[in-house]
Amino acid sequence: MHRNLSKLTQKILDGYRISQQEAEQLAKINGPDLMFLFAWTSKLRRHFFGGEISLCSIINAKSGLCSENCAFCAQSSHHKTDAPIFPLVETEQIVESACQSEGHGSECFGIITSGSSLSSDDELERICAAVRKIVKRGKVSPSCSLGFIGYRTAVKLKKAGVVTYHHNLETAKSFFPHICTTHAYQDDVETIKAAKRAGLKVCSGGVFGLGETMSQRIELAFLLRDLDVDSVPINFLDPVPGSVLQHADYLVPLECLHTIAVYRFILPDRKITVCGGRERNLRELQSWIFAAGANGMMTGDYLTKKERSPQADKQLLIDLGLRPAACPH
Ligand code: SF4
Repeated sequence: MHRNLSKLTQKILDGYRISQQEAEQLAKINGPDLMFLFAWTSKLRRHFFGGEISLCSIINAKSGLCSENCAFCAQSSHHKTDAPIFPLVETEQIVESACQSEGHGSECFGIITSGSSLSSDDELERICAAVRKIVKRGKVSPSCSLGFIGYRTAVKLKKAGVVTYHHNLETAKSFFPHICTTHAYQDDVETIKAAKRAGLKVCSGGVFGLGETMSQRIELAFLLRDLDVDSVPINFLDPVPGSVLQHADYLVPLECLHTIAVYRFILPDRKITVCGGRERNLRELQSWIFAAGANGMMTGDYLTKKERSPQADKQLLIDLGLRPAACPH
């Protein structure tokens, strides 16, 4: 196995991209053999990203009352959860939050709004105004996640200075009907295509631990590769009381790491960022995400949950001999 992994890794470094069948073989590795796998995913990460880890932070800029029924989500109006409900925050509050994220060493700052899309042009204008101010400071790369968008909105965001549009596919197409029935999977794909066409970078990934199989995670990874997304956020379900998946089990840490590792083999040169659910799913193995191949981590508070301090995350990188990537803009 060691020799096969070594050969496969070398082929990838030479430009080869693995097949779905090869990914399925990687998914079969288990037990202590996973440690061998992590040696090769570390090599891939170091080859493409060196010792730099990309940190990102977000602001929950508009919360709750979403018309969609995503089974895991705290913000769906179909669920009775404790998630906060508030309209779009003031421009200054977004800029202030971006300044804080600069202080945490974040490379990317995401403005996230709930709902299938923004409800008015005025909301879009206010977000663009905040983005222009963030761009002027030049210390953190602005990203937006505003639900479904078409080409025209994508162009407006790009002109305002947005670098990346974030829109998760959430799960594999074959599993999507178990997770959401209020919109079509293709609607999400079209948003990604519109953002790419407008020249935005795209950040799109999913939530794992929803009941999908490893093969379905692989199915999602191959679609993301086909769509040529630039970065892939990986979330692990942290069940929300009141949501459809409130009683779901956490994934075990080695399964989380294995999933990250398979994603690194499928998407060797793309940013892979571990986001929601890191602490509760990975527990004592959080620091292993980088060995498994992740080269990014969300830091600070998540959308509707508080997480550990950005200082603790910074210390984690120092202890591993890694460093936060600087904002390229
Ligand atoms: S994941 Fe997004 S689209 Fe789905 S319910 Fe939550 S806020 Fe709405």
